[in-house]
This record gives sequence, C-alpha cells and structure tokens, in this order.
Amino acid sequence: MKNIWHPFTQEKLSDPPCKVVRAQGSKLYLEDGREVIDAVSSWWCNLHGHCHPRIVEAIAKQAEKLDHVLFAGFTHDPAEKLVEKLLPKLPKGLTKFKFSDSGSTAVEIALKISWQYWANQGKQRGSFLAFEGGYHGDTVGAMSVSERYVFTKAFDDLLFDATLIPYPATFSGDDKVEEKEERALGLLREKLKMFPEHYAALIVEPLVQGSGGMRICRPVFLQKVEALCKEAGVLVIYDEVMTGFGRTGEFFAANLAKTNPDILCLAKGLTGGTLPLALTVCTEEIYSAFYSDDLWKTLWHGHTYAANPIGCAAAIASIELLEENPGAYQEMEKKHWHHMKPLMELPNLKNFRVQGTIAAMEVSTTGEQGYLNEISGELRRFFLEKGVLLRPLGNTIYVLPPYCITDEELKQVYEAISLATSPSVLRSV
Ligand SMILES: *Cc1c(COP(=O)(O)O)cnc(C)c1O
Repeated sequence: MKNIWHPFTQEKLSDPPCKVVRAQGSKLYLEDGREVIDAVSSWWCNLHGHCHPRIVEAIAKQAEKLDHVLFAGFTHDPAEKLVEKLLPKLPKGLTKFKFSDSGSTAVEIALKISWQYWANQGKQRGSFLAFEGGYHGDTVGAMSVSERYVFTKAFDDLLFDATLIPYPATFSGDDKVEEKEERALGLLREKLKMFPEHYAALIVEPLVQGSGGMRICRPVFLQKVEALCKEAGVLVIYDEVMTGFGRTGEFFAANLAKTNPDILCLAKGLTGGTLPLALTVCTEEIYSAFYSDDLWKTLWHGHTYAANPIGCAAAIASIELLEENPGAYQEMEKKHWHHMKPLMELPNLKNFRVQGTIAAMEVSTTGEQGYLNEISGELRRFFLEKGVLLRPLGNTIYVLPPYCITDEELKQVYEAISLATSPSVLRSV
C-alpha cells in the first residue's frame, strides 16, 4: 500500500513488501501462496513460534477481563504476577521494575534513570560510555549511545556526547581475542582515570551485539568491564532487549556472564513476540535516590500504555513456556554448530560464531564493509526465493530462529546459506 512508510527501508530501491496473511510455528504464509521459514524470529522477538495457542489464549482471556488501565495510581494482577515471575530469574539486586513499550523506550528510561540518579544526589555526571558497533534503539537518547553510522548519520548534531570503547568481537578460532579485550579494557581504564566522576553509566549489549552484526564477546570481558565500572562508581546498564529470554542459551546474558548490572533493559522477547511491552529494571540502591519528600526528585517519565495488562498476560504465558521447556533454547547451540560445520569448509565464509540460539558468519566480499554492503539485499532476495527469511546485516549472515524450529526447517535454512554462498551464486549477486 502506497500510504504506508515501512521501517528501515529505502522504498525507492526496494522490492514491494510481501503480504503475510497468517503465521504458525516458524512459518509465515504469504498471500501469493508461498511459505517462508522465519529464521530471524521477526526481528528477534518471537520465541515459541507464531500464534502459540497458550499465548493466544492468555491474550484472549485477559482482553475480556481488563484491556487497559492507566498505570499511575492504579495497578493490576498481570503486572504484579509478571514481576514476581521475573524477580528470581534476574541477577540479584535487580528489584525495581519500570514498564514501557519498546526496546528504545526501555533504553531511554535506563539513560534517564542513571542521569537523574546522580543529579538527585547533587552530582553532575555529564556523559555516557558505550561500545563501538552498539545499537540501542532509534530514539534520540538511544541513538546517542549507539554506533554513529547509517542509522544516526542524519541526526549527528542533535545527539548528546558518548564515549565509545572498541568491542572485542570474537569468533571460532580467533587467536587475537585476548589482545582485543586488553585493548578495549585499557581504553576504558584510561577514560575512567582521565575523567573521574564524569560518566553517569556504561551501556552494553551483553555477549552479543545485535544490529552491529551479531558480534560476540566473552563473559570474562563483561566481568572485567563490570569490575572497572564498579571501582569508578559508574553504573552499568545491560541492554538485554535482544539477548533476554533464552537467546544466548541462558535465561539472561547477565546470568551466563555471571555479572550484576545496575540496570537491565528488556523488550523484544518479553511477550514471546506477540505484543509490544518493555521493562527497565534497577536496583533498590538506585531507586532510593528517587524516593523522597521532594517532588523534584521524582522520575517524571511514563508511557500511556505502560504495563498494558494484555501485554503482561502474554509475557507471563511466554515465560511459563520457557520454564516448561528450557531445553528449547539451551540445546540450540549444539544444533547450530552441527549445521554450521560443513559451511566452515566453504571458501567464501569466515568468522563463524554461535551464542546459544544465535549463529552468525561473514561472507568475504568486496565493496563497502558494514550494514550498507550491497550483498545484503541480494542475499535477502535469494533466501526468500528459497523459502527462508534471513536478513543479513551487511555481509554478516545470521540465523536467529524461534526456539520451536524443527531440525528439518533448520536444515533447510542452512542449505539455503550454503547455496547462496557457493562460488557460482556469489559471483552472480
Ligand atoms: C531492537 C533493539 C533495541 C530497540 O528496540 P525497539 O523495540 O525496536 O525500539 C534496543 N536495543 C537492542 C539491543 C535491540 O536489539
């Protein structure tokens, strides 16, 4: 439809969008009769497959009972039950839950909380630390702490200052990983020493940077980052918008990395990929800086649809499904490696990596490196013809499927990758 402006799309240069009429499990069914395997979980949010009956039922039941109510001065069971479910799963100390409705708003809230946390104590900490290649959303604050690249270019003058540290992205057989980590930690140490009491917080996508190209770092790096920040009194924000809810093979990346961030952001997988809902969770210590007789110390921030009861009901059902079958996300790493092994022999592919349910590799290619590499559009078209939805990030191909994907479907996905990157096809794209 001509009146609709689609996200992340240069419409002048793109094929018209595919019309989806229904979806079930890992499959999307298109109006023209085609079936497509959703191997990117519809932007990383779908966990249990599409239209899972348990979540559908929870949504229907809640919609009949309480659709929505303002969340200032009122509360409800779905919100409280959701918090009770999440509390024991989160790293210890994360006990205060602020609801919103997207990953960007969850990050925006984390940044505002960390800024005002210092301001409420009469301190001015005027800047943030973040990582090269990071992506935290499309609102102005979230863009400010993200990599300055194609998504942020038009707005560079509008964004506030953040200091970016290199991200020690690693892969199978990487013999430079320690060197890269040391360099990043050295720079972080230097900044913290040079500008004491300057940074309000450091924000990081723990273990896997999503939009930056499914770049993986080691748990030990996050542990060292945390130690340096704690020593300098800088708050640590984990953006687990993509990594949360089993994506990395553990419930949260923070659990796997054995770290305790001060603030943690959740969205995408929170409702199993059914409804927009987000959370920013922080420590009691942070909250106490806002708890006051002074109205000026309030966090004056809210979203109309905060803690929407139907969204909360969907989230509770989704978490129950994760509790009943943790193997679905814990065992996918093995499956990825099984299918990836043969690809490792191909001359055009390199830098193989898997973190839980996420697998990625790079195509050796010429032209502009990064997100705008022209190969991504060509590959996307090729995969779609093979009945597989994959959206390479530049020359990085990644597989991030719903946890219910069958062995047969996963095989089909990897076969499509193998075909697409065979020398004869690559020459033609
Ligand atoms: C997608 C994403 C966001 C932004 O979430 P939206 O719901 O699209 O606003 C923020 N952080 C990370 C790590 C993400 O992957």
